Amino acid sequence: MIKLYEKDSYLTENETRVTSCTEVEGEYYITLRESVFFPEEGGQNADTGSIYIMPGLLETADDQYNAIRLLDGKLYKALDKNIKEILDNKGIAEAIGEDEREIVVYKVGAAIEAGSAVKCELDYAFRYDRMQNHSGEHILTGVIHNNYGFDNVGFHLSDDNYVTLDINGLLTYDQVMAMEKEANRIIYANMPITDTYPDGEELQELNYRSKIEIDGQVRLITIADEKETVDICACCAPHVKRTGEVGIIKVISVINWKGGVRISMLAGRRALEFINSEHEIIKGLTGILTTSSDNIQELVKAHIDEIGMLKGKLATALEENIIAQINSELPVGVQDIGVIGEEIISDKGPVVEGNYIKFVSPDFPANSMKNIYNYMLSLYKGYVAVMSGDDENGYRYFGGSALKDSRELAAALRERFDAKGGGKADMVQGQIKASSKEIEAVIVEL
Ligand SMILES: [Zn+2]
Repeated sequence: MIKLYEKDSYLTENETRVTSCTEVEGEYYITLRESVFFPEEGGQNADTGSIYIMPGLLETADDQYNAIRLLDGKLYKALDKNIKEILDNKGIAEAIGEDEREIVVYKVGAAIEAGSAVKCELDYAFRYDRMQNHSGEHILTGVIHNNYGFDNVGFHLSDDNYVTLDINGLLTYDQVMAMEKEANRIIYANMPITDTYPDGEELQELNYRSKIEIDGQVRLITIADEKETVDICACCAPHVKRTGEVGIIKVISVINWKGGVRISMLAGRRALEFINSEHEIIKGLTGILTTSSDNIQELVKAHIDEIGMLKGKLATALEENIIAQINSELPVGVQDIGVIGEEIISDKGPVVEGNYIKFVSPDFPANSMKNIYNYMLSLYKGYVAVMSGDDENGYRYFGGSALKDSRELAAALRERFDAKGGGKADMVQGQIKASSKEIEAVIVEL
C-alpha cells in the first residue's frame, strides 16, 4: 500500500481501489492500494474517516456515493514473529503477497468488494489535532533530551485525555515548566519539521531518538533550522510542516513514574480548549468570591480557616448545651459536680447509680459525641450511650461503661436490633436502625 499520509500529512482525501475484503465474525477488514488513513502505530490511534464506493470508474458525483465508516486501522509488519498467526486469525492472510514486508488492514463498517473504486475521506480536523499534539510532543521531548539527556520511553497520544510522555530521568515541576517555556520558544521560531529516509550507512552515523535496529526503511522527523537542531526522531506518524502550527504547548502535570517522570501535556487547539475551560472556572470563582483572580487562593484559604474556627466554636457550644442537659438530669445532690472538659469528676470514679442514654441531633460532630460520652462515663456507674440521629433514619452511637465491659452494650444492641458496631472494653461504637424509645428500653434494662 502506498502511504499517502506519510508523503503528505495535509492530504484529506484520495481515490483508490480496495485490494481485498474479508469478513471475520461479522466484521469487515479491507486493504487499499493507496491510503490517506494513518493506522494505529507508535502510540497514536488510527485515523477516522469515511469511505465512499464509486458507482462507476472514479466518477465524482457526490450524491451517488455510499458512505462507509472507517472504524480502525492496523499496520502488521511481516517481520513480526506472530504476523502469520495474527493475520490467519483475522482471516486476511491471503490478502498479503509473499513479498510484502508489512500490511495495513482497515476495519470498516460494511463489506466493500475487492476491486471496488472508492473515495477515502479523512476526518481532517481530528487528524490535524493529533498532528499538533504529536509534533508538540517531539518538540517538548527534544528540548528535554537536549537539556538533560533523558529520553521519552513511553508516549501515548490519548484522544479523550492528555498526551503523556514517560521520561526516563527525574525532573522537578519547575524544571519541566522551564522546558515548556523553551518548547514554546521553538514554536515561535516557526522552524521547519521535515521527514527524511536516510540509507543504512547514513543512519549508522546519525544520532537520533528512538534508534532501534530496524531491517527496513527508517523515517526520520527532524525539527531544525539553520541555527539549531531541536529534535531528530524515528517516527511514522503525520506531522505539521512548521513548529508554529503547533500553536502552544501546555504542561498539565508532572508525576513521578518508574524512576523518572510522566508528563501530561496538550498542544494546539486542545491546549487552548483546556486553558479556556480552566479560565472559565477561575472566572466563575471570582464572581462567587467577588474578588480578582490573583486573590482567589488567599481568600479561599481564609474562608477554609474561618469555617474550621466556626466548626470548633459550634462543637463547643453543642457540647456545652448537651452537658447542661445532662447535669440538669442528674439526681439531686450530684448536680453541681460536672465541669466540661474534666474527665474525672471524682477521685473515686463515677458516683451515680444506673445506666444513662442521651439523644443528640443527627448532624452532631463525632468528636463532640466522644467528649460527651467520656463526660457521662465519669458520672455513671452503669452503661452510658450517646446517640445521634432520628427515628426515621436511625442512630449512630458511642457507648460503654467505666466499670463493666463496654462490648456487652454492643452485643445487646446487636442482638435486639441487628445493629452494626463493636469496639473495645472501654468504648464501643456503631449504628442502629430503631426508634429512640426502643433503644432506651434496651439500655435501661442492661
Ligand atoms: Zn513521533
